[in-house]
Amino acid sequence: MKAQELRQLFFEFFSSKGHVIVPSAPMVVKNDPTLMFTNAGMNQFKDIFLGNNQPVNKRVANSQKCLRVSGKHNDLEEVGHDTYHHTMFEMLGNWSFGDYFKKEAIEWGWELLVKRLGIPEDRLYATIFEGSREDNVPRDNEAFELWQKCFTNPESRIIEGSKKDNFWEMGETGPCGPCSEIHVDIRDDEERKKIPGRDLVNKGHPHVIEIWNLVFIQYNRKSDGVLEQLPSKHVDTGMGFERLCMVIQGKKSNYETDIFQSVIKEISAITGKPYGANEKWDVALRVIADHLRAVSFSIADGQLPSNNKAGYVIRRILRRAVRYGYNNLGMEEPFIYRLVPALAQAMGNQYPELQTGRDQIARIIFEEETAFLKTLGKGLKMIEKMIVDLRKEKKNILSGKTAFEMYDTFGFPIDLTQLILRENDMHLDLKGFEDEMKNQKDRSREDAATEAADWIIVMETDGTEFTGYEKSEDDVRITKYRTVKIKGKESCQLVFNKTPFYAESGGQVGDTGIITSGNERIDIIDTVKENNLVIHIARRLPSDPTIIFRAVVDLEKRQMTANNHTATHLIHFALRSVLGNHVEQKGSLVTPDRLRFDFSHFSKLSKEELSRIEEMVNKMVREDHRSKIAVGVPMEKAKSMGAMALFGEKYGDTVRVVEFGKSVELCGGIHVESTGRIGIVKIVSEGAIAAGVRRIEAVTAGKAEEYINEKLKTLDEVASLLKSSGSITESVEKLLSENSSLKKSIEKLQAQSVNELLKDLTSKALIINNIKYISGQIETDSADVLKNLAYQIRSSSENTVLVIGSESGGKANILVMISDDLVKDKNLNAVAIIKEIAGDINGGGGGQPFLATAGGKNPAGISSALKKAEQYIRRYEV
Ligand code: ATP
Ligand code: MG
Repeated sequence: MKAQELRQLFFEFFSSKGHVIVPSAPMVVKNDPTLMFTNAGMNQFKDIFLGNNQPVNKRVANSQKCLRVSGKHNDLEEVGHDTYHHTMFEMLGNWSFGDYFKKEAIEWGWELLVKRLGIPEDRLYATIFEGSREDNVPRDNEAFELWQKCFTNPESRIIEGSKKDNFWEMGETGPCGPCSEIHVDIRDDEERKKIPGRDLVNKGHPHVIEIWNLVFIQYNRKSDGVLEQLPSKHVDTGMGFERLCMVIQGKKSNYETDIFQSVIKEISAITGKPYGANEKWDVALRVIADHLRAVSFSIADGQLPSNNKAGYVIRRILRRAVRYGYNNLGMEEPFIYRLVPALAQAMGNQYPELQTGRDQIARIIFEEETAFLKTLGKGLKMIEKMIVDLRKEKKNILSGKTAFEMYDTFGFPIDLTQLILRENDMHLDLKGFEDEMKNQKDRSREDAATEAADWIIVMETDGTEFTGYEKSEDDVRITKYRTVKIKGKESCQLVFNKTPFYAESGGQVGDTGIITSGNERIDIIDTVKENNLVIHIARRLPSDPTIIFRAVVDLEKRQMTANNHTATHLIHFALRSVLGNHVEQKGSLVTPDRLRFDFSHFSKLSKEELSRIEEMVNKMVREDHRSKIAVGVPMEKAKSMGAMALFGEKYGDTVRVVEFGKSVELCGGIHVESTGRIGIVKIVSEGAIAAGVRRIEAVTAGKAEEYINEKLKTLDEVASLLKSSGSITESVEKLLSENSSLKKSIEKLQAQSVNELLKDLTSKALIINNIKYISGQIETDSADVLKNLAYQIRSSSENTVLVIGSESGGKANILVMISDDLVKDKNLNAVAIIKEIAGDINGGGGGQPFLATAGGKNPAGISSALKKAEQYIRRYEV
């Protein structure tokens, strides 16, 4: 069965059991401070489990793109070395939100795997939770009995597992419960006879692996560690799609399934290294095939490789692939980008974003590859130099600190460092390296350390109603609150039944303001979203949290922010009109003071393009378009209205459509009533922030006025310095041309003075030892004059020695020149003379036999140095 059919069969199966099939959420997570990437199917339903959201449907199933490369789930180092862990993989799942529980979950799992897909039951094992005394949770007898009914020989098939493998928790606190895993033994019969499969379950054997995890969410863990029963129980299951394909297609490795084969063939075609020839090549082929998917999918989801956070994780994955290509396959030129079409071909049906984004994905990968290969090249040179230095010092250990610096600052891979050292009979202080690594991790952990107390519930509600689109003030009640310690600093988080405060999202910063009641007045210093929860951050708790408060948003700041937010929409529209429809929003930041807009485009914007964009935006401002806002619009409808798709929307979301004239966007932000309020938009910078991504920064309204006035003031100052009444440009041009003609006359004068000096010096030449000896101290600021002089004499005279000194800026310069014939025939050497006399000016120098110079700190010594040179020639035996 082809992968595509298998995925379809899964959907149809759960559809027949009353499940709604929903799309995969984006792999890159927005609005969740605890998670960068989706790492399990349940992530997008977290708010339902936490009770922040009500489910649209109680039974849901899907295939979710997951990425496990950071945080709690990090499989990166395994990938490629084993055959069943990926960075990015698809997780098939079915969910019950307070609907069915263990019975249906287990029976349906069995029905699908054994009855529909025909996996022989003597290849399957089920694990159940053994119970935990410490948590006061009994063995999961319910699951045990259900499995007992499935298997013909349950005794040998059901295995008890500990908290580590069989108890799932969302985090330190929150929803949790026992889980039951299904493992498959795909070994050959002969091997199966030797060791029973149950001895290999959860032991890291590549052919006895977990494929499906059924989680039964029935508890909530509080911050003191105590578990309480949840009022409604949920089912959350996750099955690795690639692993299932391997089993159903009768393969021994995920990479041998049709999911990966076409891409691997393409890599082999490009690199000339077939799969299955040797382990070194195979590891690299697997790494590259896997990482290509992870990187392409995240770029398609809007997360580009970059220097921090999620972007850096993606960059590191891509670099790992480049490195395996370089080390194991000898690929020193970019080639991974050439695989994107094969990937789009293989997976584009299920994930159309790969098709539409194909060219951009390839281009970004190409630029990243190119840049990293350069780094590799540079790093190799650095290492070679270090090895030479170590040899000189007769050492054979490279310090962990140096290796860590190479790794951390230049992205130079540590295993490559080790390999090169080994090839040179040296090694790495691995312990030192690991210590550095640990220090860095500890530092970043400390930076992120947050302790949150349990929420104290004041009143039950169905979430927070946002009233801020219409109002900037409202009467609110606190529904829950908690204290939070971040890096040792305590603050307090408040949730209201309704709020006029906008919570940071979609690039727009959160509102600030106050809540008051009677004499009490509490500052709200920020408003943020955690999943769907709107949290108001205050420095302290109100003395009575149960009363009604007047919540007042800082209106001036909010209006400035609204100006900037609407301006980003106008800029987006103008960018697409002027540059083309390939322009897509890649991020934005909207604050009261300025706005930032990141977009895809491959070259620097010309001055003309920038002014056309600015003109178009300001024209739209003056046309004073009123805002037209529609809420609750289904996604498809919004797209047909011409809205540009944004990332981060999940299944079931309806969107808000914001229109100003021809600009149509999906946006939840706060906007002006009509564009005229913005007054003026001024672009203040444009530049690249990553391969294929550029950033515009702009200011609006009062801030734009300040910016323009500042520039005008500078111009005024320049004008008054120039004392010009006419055009400033003309005056400056005039100044520049005067300046350059002055420079020319100076050069001419200098040349003349060199000639004068020459004449003067030559007239005082002595004959010593039959040699024409020219010497003297001359006045010049430029060491070049000395050299010019020397070259002129050298080119026109024979049998001549020239020794001159000069003082400039408190420093002394000496030059010795010897004509070529004397160097050749009489063995005279300018360097020898300079060495002898440089001490007098407290300096040192060198050069060549015919010309040497020295600089020193003691101008008073020039005349004695010249004397010494004369004596040298007198002494010299010719
Ligand atoms: P393993 O112990 O094999 O790493 P896990 O316990 O981390 O698995 P879960 O978190 O329970 O797995 O995820 C559910 C299912 O997703 C697993 O049963 C497995 O089939 C699949 N899966 C987990 N991690 C990966 C991965 N890195 N690549 C491919 N599939 C995976
Ligand atoms: Mg795992």
